[in-house]
Amino acid sequence: MTNPSSDHTVQPSRPFVPPPWETVGPRVRDVRVILTAPDGIRLVVVKVETDEPGLFGLGCATFTQRPLAVAAAVEHYLKPLLLGRSPHDIEDVWQAAYVSSYWRSGPVLNNALSGVDEALWDLKGKLAGMPVYQLLGGRCRVAAPLYVHASGRDAREVEEDARRYMEQGFRHVRCQVAVPGSSTYGVAGALDSEEPHPAHLRLRQEAWDPAAYVRIVPRLFEHLRSALGDEVELLHDIHERVAPPDAIRLAKALEPYRLFFLEDPFAPEENGWFPLLRQQAAVPIAMGELYSNPAEYVPLIKDRLIDFIRVHVSDIGGLTPARKLAAFCEFFGVRTAWHGPGDVSPVGHAANLHLDLACPNFGIQEAHLFGERTREVFPGCPEIRDGMLWANEVPGLGVELDEAAAARYPFPEHPLNGAWPPVRLADGTVQRP
Ligand SMILES: [Mg+2]
Repeated sequence: MTNPSSDHTVQPSRPFVPPPWETVGPRVRDVRVILTAPDGIRLVVVKVETDEPGLFGLGCATFTQRPLAVAAAVEHYLKPLLLGRSPHDIEDVWQAAYVSSYWRSGPVLNNALSGVDEALWDLKGKLAGMPVYQLLGGRCRVAAPLYVHASGRDAREVEEDARRYMEQGFRHVRCQVAVPGSSTYGVAGALDSEEPHPAHLRLRQEAWDPAAYVRIVPRLFEHLRSALGDEVELLHDIHERVAPPDAIRLAKALEPYRLFFLEDPFAPEENGWFPLLRQQAAVPIAMGELYSNPAEYVPLIKDRLIDFIRVHVSDIGGLTPARKLAAFCEFFGVRTAWHGPGDVSPVGHAANLHLDLACPNFGIQEAHLFGERTREVFPGCPEIRDGMLWANEVPGLGVELDEAAAARYPFPEHPLNGAWPPVRLADGTVQRP
């Protein structure tokens, strides 16, 4: 008979209880969403507050076409996960929040997560008394070279705009030209311009003519290269607005003008065309600002089908996945070109900049020339000098938020709450960017 007290007795199994997290240090007391549009662009910033007076972090969660959905995701789903937690546990918070919806990723949830993630990096920097780039390994350059956006109604106007930037010290200029009679994305003053413009308040009327665009762009760069010389670096963004074979034809036609990069040749659903593009044209390719899941970049990087990653950092979930993606790129000779137009808040631009300073495989940083009201709302906004973006040495991301000023600039009225109306071809078909 077995002795019930014998050492060999099998004990009933008990559920595994993980050890409690470290309990010292500050705790998250509140998570708030601040919506503001100082220069007309809808910005979303998350503020993570702690139980230490005056200790908080800020993160960019700007998805300017769906800001209210992001705010709801933060308030209803991320805030309850965060309350009472240590702000130190960035990686664990990111992993837990990412899978807490089971169906994960996507621009709404990732932007919400980025707001929290970047705020925790900001907080960690403040707790350490260091700028975030120090936490990422320290800087490997003094500042981040920028590219600016030149545009115009014809090649001469684009040339004038580019010269204006070159005289200000910029050495990298993205050039876009209007297609006469056609809606043209990315051209200042055009009906669906990226710049803040009263036309944003109307539905787009003009049709988009991809064939005319593909004809006109090589002529633009022929003019620019001969007028501006060889020193300036020229860039162009297709904005995914032509059929894949036309994008390949355009890339081949642009070869003689030695672009720094050609951006977004295909819609994000058309990645299968990249091997063909690579075989056909020796033009550096930048891609990815419409991807949301960080894993979407992996096949293009590992097969060396692109040269620069374009990433709206908040759209993939913030600094935590972006620094990993940058490190992955380093092994394949792919460089970074974080998305940095006006629909990234100054907090997000600061996050871009800290990555720019710390990543050896930095490529180029897209510039946004912040307006006066944006600087008023966001003291500590990164500064532009000599064609480069400079960080301040303030601990954390280095950008503050004047909430009283932010409240003076609510979201503007818009028939679609800031959503984009469709771009259509001449027959009425919706053009997918
Ligand atoms: Mg783009």
